[in-house]
Amino acid sequence: TALLKRISALNPALNAFVTVTESDALAAAATADARRAAGEDGPLLGIPMAHKDIFCTAGVRTTCGSRMLEHFVAPYNATVVERLAAEGMVMLGKLNMDEFAMGSSNETSYFGPVRNPWHTGMVPGGSSGGSAAAVAAGLVPVATGTDTGGSIRQPAALCGITGIKPTYGRVSRYGMIAFASSLDQGGPMARNAEDCALLLNVMAAHDPRDSTSHPAAASDFLRGLERPLQGLRVGVPEEFFGAGLDPEVAAAVQAGIAELARQGAAVQSIRLPNNPHAVSTYYVLAPAEASSNLARFDGVRYTHRAANPADLTELYQQSRYEGFGAEVRRRILVGTYVLSAGYYDAYYRKAQQVRSLIREDFRRAFAEVDVIVGPTTPTPAFPLGAKNADPVAMYLADIYTIAVNLAGIPALSVPCGFTAAGLPVGMQLMGDYFADDLLLNVAHRYQ
Ligand code: GLN
Repeated sequence: TALLKRISALNPALNAFVTVTESDALAAAATADARRAAGEDGPLLGIPMAHKDIFCTAGVRTTCGSRMLEHFVAPYNATVVERLAAEGMVMLGKLNMDEFAMGSSNETSYFGPVRNPWHTGMVPGGSSGGSAAAVAAGLVPVATGTDTGGSIRQPAALCGITGIKPTYGRVSRYGMIAFASSLDQGGPMARNAEDCALLLNVMAAHDPRDSTSHPAAASDFLRGLERPLQGLRVGVPEEFFGAGLDPEVAAAVQAGIAELARQGAAVQSIRLPNNPHAVSTYYVLAPAEASSNLARFDGVRYTHRAANPADLTELYQQSRYEGFGAEVRRRILVGTYVLSAGYYDAYYRKAQQVRSLIREDFRRAFAEVDVIVGPTTPTPAFPLGAKNADPVAMYLADIYTIAVNLAGIPALSVPCGFTAAGLPVGMQLMGDYFADDLLLNVAHRYQ
């Protein structure tokens, strides 16, 4: 009840929640109380939380930040929703996000931008901006997010919280509205690594309903949390400290790395030579997959449908034109272009080849080091509207996060300080496949 009051007081200014499920939440809290009274115990029983509005929730609308799905009510729960509810977590509502998770500032949402709780003139980052802002403002202790190219880590960094993008295949994508299926991965966002571990313990599990779910997805992420960092091999990629990196961000991350060294980690410089190609590779592959995934929104099924179309073709055209915002339409156009017969070899196939090189970079690096550390973002939170006119400037906000998704490895953002203007800075930890527990361990010891 205290949090519901806090949400109604603060949400008008932050716009972090798209939907607040007050009566369902009160009922779920009463059920959790009853389970506890009956002797049940569990770390998440009765704990409030909220889901990014990309996870389908039976009976509660799931908008994905889009007019296309403004009134869409899924007939079933996403696996992640189902699993957290079964532990007795209490969902307070659905969180704002960039439309179909396409964006880095939470400004492409049909429901309006989210504001950064540290400075309401600034963006919270995206696409899981509502999740990051809600946790940072204390509206919920934990939230879910998804990360296709940085959407958990980038807003976590800009809002001063902790968020992990797990190894691809660890968290089920069933019921998570698809953007780019080979890159999308759900994960927890919380105030610290320990809370992320608590959530991931439940979120990570093999799911036969997701064909890319890994059979060994589950693990106990709390178990290794306290391991000392003595002897940890840390690699710092040269490519992450080049031109374009804000000096205050660089200084805060360097101080974070110095702290890891103080705790006994062995720090060395490494190279990820293909990282500079990650953004351009991603912006071929992600739109290609999106153009295919979003073809299902045809104005016939699901929700938005144009009024009075002359024929079927016009029904499709008008419904999609009205239902999708400018960024989503841009991605669909780019995606269909790079997949078209005449350009497939020049763009899509080439991007897949570069994706292999990026994966190879990490494979070589992890033969030498246990964790790779660098900034999560090139700058702290930027003003609302600052990058809207220039999509490429916006795409560069993910310059340090995207390679991780192309490779499928886990990565985490942990707060490592503030700028002189009081904006939070995030430090990114990247690990080899299934080293999620190590990343949480390092972040926990650091915190
Ligand atoms: N900012 C990137 C994009 O717009 C990544 C978004 C995400 O991870 N969902 O595609």
